[in-house]
Amino acid sequence: MAANKRLLVLPGDGIGPEVMAEVRRVIDWMDKRRHVTFALDEALIGGAAIDGAGNPLPDRTMELAHAADAIIMGAVGGPKWEKLPFAQQPERGLLGIRKQLSLFANLRPAVVFDALANASTLKLDVVKGLDIMIIRELTGDIYFGEPRGIETLPDGRRKGVNTMTYTTDEVERIGRVAFDLAGKRNKRVCSIDKANVLETTVMWREVMESIKGEYPDVQLSHMYVDNAAMQLVRNPKQFDVIVTGNMFGDILSDCAAMLTGSLGMLPSASLGAPDKTGRRAALYEPVHGSAPDIAGKGVANPLATILSFGMMLRYSFDMVEDADRIDQAVQNVLNNGMRTADIMEPGKAKVSTDTMGSAILAELDKLAA
Ligand code: NAD
Repeated sequence: MAANKRLLVLPGDGIGPEVMAEVRRVIDWMDKRRHVTFALDEALIGGAAIDGAGNPLPDRTMELAHAADAIIMGAVGGPKWEKLPFAQQPERGLLGIRKQLSLFANLRPAVVFDALANASTLKLDVVKGLDIMIIRELTGDIYFGEPRGIETLPDGRRKGVNTMTYTTDEVERIGRVAFDLAGKRNKRVCSIDKANVLETTVMWREVMESIKGEYPDVQLSHMYVDNAAMQLVRNPKQFDVIVTGNMFGDILSDCAAMLTGSLGMLPSASLGAPDKTGRRAALYEPVHGSAPDIAGKGVANPLATILSFGMMLRYSFDMVEDADRIDQAVQNVLNNGMRTADIMEPGKAKVSTDTMGSAILAELDKLAA
């Protein structure tokens, strides 16, 4: 059968290649067992690209990225490249690809798997069954606004300046991502702002209100960011989809991530705007970094990257059944007591990266039977 989805695989550095190897086994499984086939390209990014091509984001990688239907990445960075000038560091590769593909919407689910609910620092009844989605605008806001910098005033004092800006079209497009997604979930969007203090977010709120009529089955609410931080740890299950700007999203998504208690379990997606044919650039990656402290030991948790692949099936290819199957396989291996070292609990079976991958394949076999 001709391959009908073109994927770019970017293993990156540290544990990146190890966790990506397990995703490749899942892709092979799908090629053999399902109706879909994938054409895979693999390319260098980050430290591996600095070593192999003298640049954290080689032109060849960007060519393949533009040609791909979706991209999956491991992680970049590590001590070997830390002393390089800022502009040549591995992380520039990741920031560069996000920028060149205009990936403006960052999706971070915070899901608490029943079997891991005890890993959260919050009480069991607060987090058990949690399934929320944080959508963070990724290309605007105070991180990119001008003017910016540090200047010296005539009296010798120094002044730091950053500028929070959004334009209506930027808010509309991230708002639409949130409404679309909520329409496929529990039909509630909570937009987070600081409209009691910041004019930029007064406008943000007005724009969200102006587009809500396009989504009659989705309910829109608003919350100030300080309250949202409190509510996320007080009663996170009140949320379905949260949408917010770059800076608030940066902070709240890490806060939500920790409700789940395990970095090795967290997937993410970054999406671009759809073109006329509906095709959109998309990069899927685990939230964790390259974990140099455990790289090469075969102990990394591959589940965040496998779940990121599941997000790719769901959001780039609309393969909801297959994505659900991957999520279920992860749930099942955890229920069966399998744990990599990062999520180990007394009484459970500590397994290596590839044993965890094999367990996922075995569950996929059962689920597809
Ligand atoms: P990290 O996420 O790599 O590691 C933090 C801790 O979590 C470590 O103890 C690590 O062993 C553990 N951990 C992370 N992922 C794990 C997994 N899948 N299984 C088991 N344990 C896991 O963060 P860090 O130590 O701050 O950063 C290390 C390097 O990664 C740095 O160079 C940093 O810049 C880079 N980084 C890259 C990304 C990315 O590529 N998106 C994100 C964060 C950090």
